Amino acid sequence: MGLLDPIAGFGVTFKTMFRKTFTQAYPEAPKVTAPRFHGRHQLNRWPDGLEKCVGCELCAWACPADAIYVEGASNRDEERFSPGERYGRVYQINYLRCILCGLCIEACPTRALTMTNEFELADDSRQKLIYEKSDLLAPLLPGMTAPPHERQLGDSERAYFLGLPETRPVDLPQGTGNPNLGLAGWKDKKKKAKAEAELARKGAAVAPAVDGGDVPAEHTQGVRE
Ligand code: SF4
Ligand code: SF4
Repeated sequence: MGLLDPIAGFGVTFKTMFRKTFTQAYPEAPKVTAPRFHGRHQLNRWPDGLEKCVGCELCAWACPADAIYVEGASNRDEERFSPGERYGRVYQINYLRCILCGLCIEACPTRALTMTNEFELADDSRQKLIYEKSDLLAPLLPGMTAPPHERQLGDSERAYFLGLPETRPVDLPQGTGNPNLGLAGWKDKKKKAKAEAELARKGAAVAPAVDGGDVPAEHTQGVRE
């Protein structure tokens, strides 16, 4: 052991002594978690209260702990729970299995599933740790109506989806681009320029899209900035 080693050891002590302390009074006061802490899941809603979950089961397939159980069902015009064709009729997360890894929320295509900062999940029975859809659904905010009900679009479909690309196909020349992404689907600049020229020849003006891609101007009407 060198002569200066004890001093170096005390150096760590002294450095820590003068650091600003961060004391939490948990459980008397709520514990402050890191902003991206992985806590209890939440099933989100669209602004009109319809559910974002489309019952696709991708979250269940992505889960390494087999903690999610989903049963999808078809929406009907007179009984609509989500904007698309399908919704999650049964949705369960088993917190006895869940390791809060977050792979399920990465897999979700509609951002229906996210994680909150809530971590107090302990309970006194195994049954209570299987969360049902009703336990996981986000609360209804002002302006939302509990489903089932018709989709309340607002000014346009794009306004409803808060700036995401519209779901209806863009009128692109055959064999060019991804019809759901518009010209944003092109990675090859030459092919994109060719598609733009073709659109211009057909008289469709091209306007920049909110998400950074290009879509014909008539598809951007009524978009809220
Ligand atoms: S957080 Fe991980 S373990 Fe928990 S349900 Fe999602 S994928 Fe499964
Ligand atoms: S939460 Fe997302 S991934 Fe899971 S079933 Fe619903 S839409 Fe699909």
